[in-house]
Amino acid sequence: MSQPSAPTGDHHVDVDVVVVGAGFAGLAMLRELRDVRGMSVRVLEAGDDVGGVWFWNRYPGARCDVDSTDYSYTFSPELDAEWDWSERYATQPEILRYVRHVAEKFDLYRDVSLGSRVTTADWDEATGHWDVVCENGLTARGRYLVMATGCLSAVKRPELDGIEDFAGQVLHTADWPAEPVDLTGRRVGVIGTGSSGIQVIPAIAPSVEQLVVFQRTPTFSVPARHQVLTDADRAALRAELPQRRELLRNSPTGLSVPITRRSALDDDEETRRRHYEEQWASAGFGFLLAYNDLLVNKASNDTAADFIRGKIAERVPDPELAEKLTPRTYPYGAKRPCVDTGFYETFNRPNVTLVDISESPLAKVTATSLHTTTTEYELDVIVFATGFDAMTGSLLRPTITGRDGETLREHWRSGPLTYLGLATAGFPNMFIVAGPGSPSLLGNVMVSIEQHVDWISELLTRSAAEGTPTIEAAPDAEAEWVVRVNAAAAPTLYMEAASYYLGAEVPGKPRVFMPYAGGLRRYRRECDEVAQAGYRGFTRTA
Ligand code: NAP
Repeated sequence: MSQPSAPTGDHHVDVDVVVVGAGFAGLAMLRELRDVRGMSVRVLEAGDDVGGVWFWNRYPGARCDVDSTDYSYTFSPELDAEWDWSERYATQPEILRYVRHVAEKFDLYRDVSLGSRVTTADWDEATGHWDVVCENGLTARGRYLVMATGCLSAVKRPELDGIEDFAGQVLHTADWPAEPVDLTGRRVGVIGTGSSGIQVIPAIAPSVEQLVVFQRTPTFSVPARHQVLTDADRAALRAELPQRRELLRNSPTGLSVPITRRSALDDDEETRRRHYEEQWASAGFGFLLAYNDLLVNKASNDTAADFIRGKIAERVPDPELAEKLTPRTYPYGAKRPCVDTGFYETFNRPNVTLVDISESPLAKVTATSLHTTTTEYELDVIVFATGFDAMTGSLLRPTITGRDGETLREHWRSGPLTYLGLATAGFPNMFIVAGPGSPSLLGNVMVSIEQHVDWISELLTRSAAEGTPTIEAAPDAEAEWVVRVNAAAAPTLYMEAASYYLGAEVPGKPRVFMPYAGGLRRYRRECDEVAQAGYRGFTRTA
């Protein structure tokens, strides 16, 4: 534990608001509620430091794929003025340094209980409070419960027959050891080629003796165009910060990418290719926004997908290998797209092998090896880059019990039900930051987080002032919002991939589209209208 924190252990705290999670969302909530709204707050955090996913995902090569300037808090001009990002896409250690700096600067640590994983939260109808219990014995009681537990934080470890017999090391990208892991000269198998896999694979390939990558579904990835920022770059970024922030706030994605009104089909083939080449050369994640209809029009999407497929063929000269790496079964962007630095090229190295496990699935692990149905691979280390139980995992792992003894797991047995992604019927005074039913994962999550924090805080403040501190989403408002979330996703190509947006990442998880696909800008408008209408859809009582 590198920082002082509120004492943990077998004791009790009584506060206005219990916040679960001390990542970007939980810390923003703490600062706003405590320092701006004057409420008492305790943040319960499972990790031994603040940072959330940026605390746990310490794997080699981990960095953000949104520009650092846009993946920062916006509430403090002083913080902006004193913090300099060193690279276009900050590395995990630099992001963690930033979060710690914020926690120190705003004296947040004193209200964070580290090492305190929440196991249960119970609504006490008689007193109108939440009772929260942590694994370490800490208990907390608050009028409000805010779940700031992240969309991509419940680690997914696929079951693999015999894994406990493996004599080597087993690692997961999202739970990487804090102490250094030396992979030099070792035979390493990586399972998974999503955003984490595509970062860890090129990062470790040069130093390991042999790298075997087990790929189930090929990935669309475009070059990140990572760069170290010079003083001149930083000065320019600082100068444009106000306009850039305005662009973020008003964009559908929370990215500082200019919005085009052009369809991919508006351009002839040569113009379109030139445009894609320009985007390829600089856009990074913004490549998905090269035209305005890539996520809604299959013919348009095909032009981008074909362009990327052509680039994979250029990047990987062996045609058979290139074909294995080429996604063909779902539209570009329907699964969360990746940006990379040298991902496909890594497979040109003599010490790297690609195993297509869609052809020959993983079968078992023995003391020395990982076996597919056809082949044995002797390994010293197995790295799971298999992602998360997305969006609902971190909310459903603890047992949260609302009104009439109903648990959130029961309430959400057919998929998550929320009003505005912020609250759920039957769970009074419980709020979710960046949860299912909000845009969260479909854009720059930092923008969603800050909007949620402001909106929830204002709701609590106004309800206190109006003498109606008990706040609950009405069942009909929740049902209507779920219909809106489905309707926003229905015309998009998101529906055409087995993605974690749709709950396809965990066997048996309900297949419903979880984030709100109507865009951040529209969502912000919806939330503002609800507030202006006296928090329409919420029941507020004394
Ligand atoms: P992910 O995108 O869900 O990818 C998981 C990978 O593991 C996929 O290739 C998946 O294959 C494979 N996989 C999962 N279960 C498997 C199984 N049972 N057997 C074989 N393969 C299996 O997870 P992630 O890469 O950790 O990324 C998750 C999200 O975190 C990203 O989309 C992004 O939002 C965020 N993230 C961001 C950054 C960044 O900012 N740079 C970095 C890392 C992660 P299938 O596709 O076939 O399921």
